[in-house]
Parts: sequence; structure tokens; C-alpha cells
Amino acid sequence: MPHHPKTVSGVEVTPLCDAVGPMGEAIRRPLPEMFPGSALPDEPWVLHFHCYLLRDRAGRLTLVDTGIGGTDSLASSWAPVPGTLTGELAAAGVAPADVDTVILTHLHSDHASGAVSDGRPLFENARYVVQQAELDAADGLLADRVLTPLKGQLLAVDGDAEVTPGVRVHLTPGHTPGHQIARVGELAVTGDLVLHPVQLDDPAVRYVYDDDQERAAATRAAVLGELRAAHALLATAHFAEPFVRL
Ligand SMILES: [Zn+2]
Ligand SMILES: [Zn+2]
Repeated sequence: MPHHPKTVSGVEVTPLCDAVGPMGEAIRRPLPEMFPGSALPDEPWVLHFHCYLLRDRAGRLTLVDTGIGGTDSLASSWAPVPGTLTGELAAAGVAPADVDTVILTHLHSDHASGAVSDGRPLFENARYVVQQAELDAADGLLADRVLTPLKGQLLAVDGDAEVTPGVRVHLTPGHTPGHQIARVGELAVTGDLVLHPVQLDDPAVRYVYDDDQERAAATRAAVLGELRAAHALLATAHFAEPFVRL
């Protein structure tokens, strides 16, 4: 467990480091191409793949994102599978069956693949919270491999919603049509709203794998502006240091 938890508004927030590594050659590009206009140096981008465990005062457990999954995952073509999410959870004293709520920020293979294992929901007692717009846009393969097994446990939300006491989701479209972030007090678990720290300095820096780069940049600027005004604590998916104070 390489990263330390923080407590925010009485909720213990534990970063779960599912994997660390560069993207596979199938989609790897030099950083200046990955983030056009950023003036980043031409060096390898080593990503962390973070999920977050939220434990509130009542002991309710919410997991935000489920990582890259096992060796048979859809992410295996480009991400360093297998992910170590269950080992990270065990190190935090949590078994998959203990998790009450899973929030999927979006349905990319490095955030949603760990939701299922051997064709069954890994978190057997959890509701899985996904934006309706994300479900509507889901790619067929991911729908087959991830959404179909989750069918009986899916909770579709539309826009902003409180999904468990004190934990809210906010629709932040652009990276994907139904991308969402999770909020607890001053904390924001940002998924792929921001991919690289360079986008905190300049939210207009685009990411080549945003579905809609223009919309993503506009959403990033607006949401980061609000979070900065609130001096929010970000919990990021792919930064080397999971937490960033704005
Ligand atoms: Zn990490
Ligand atoms: Zn993504």
C-alpha cells in the first residue's frame, strides 16, 4: 500500500494503487502528443492507476473505480494487468463483499474492468453507480464483459445525486459522455477529469484520448475553477501523488 489515507469530513479516504506503469505500445504516444500544446518533455509517461476507498463514520464503504482488472481484462491490451485492487483492499482490512457502493467515474477499461471477476460482480453486495449517459454510450465489448454481469446491481443516475449519505456524484462530461466525479466534503475524486498535473496549471491542455476534447476542456476549466475556489482536495486517478490540494 504505497499511499497513505487521509480523513476528510469524518470519512477515511484510502488510495488503492491498482498498478503503476507506462501505457502499452498499442496506444502509447510521446507526452507532447498525448497532451497537445502542453510543452511537456518527450519522456515516458508512467501512470498510476488509483481507486479510492471511502469509509464513513457509520462504517459504510464506498469504492470509487475498480481499476484495470485481471489478465483477461479489456485493459490488458494497453495497461499493466493484473491490477492489485483486491490486495490493496485486503491491506486496508476490506473484503470485496464488505463494499456497499461502487461508483464508476466512467466506463473506460482501466476504471471499470475490476468491477467483475470470472464473469461475476466482484463486489457482490454493492450497488454500482453509473451515469445514464455513460450507459447509453457504452461500447459493445465493455457492455458485454462488464455491464451485463452487473445488470442486477446497477444504479443509473442522471446528473448530480447523493448516492450514500455524504457522498455525491456530479456529471462532468467530455472525457466520456457520462463521466462523473465523486464529492465528500472538500474532497473530489476526479477520475479522468484531469489526467496529468499539467492540466491543473492549464485546464485548456487537451488529452488526446478525451472522447470530446473541446467539451472535456470546457468541463475541466469550469469544474477545476469551482474546486479551486473551495480549496478542494483532489484524489486523482493517474498522478504519481494521489492527493493534490488546490
Ligand atoms: Zn499509486
Ligand atoms: Zn478514461
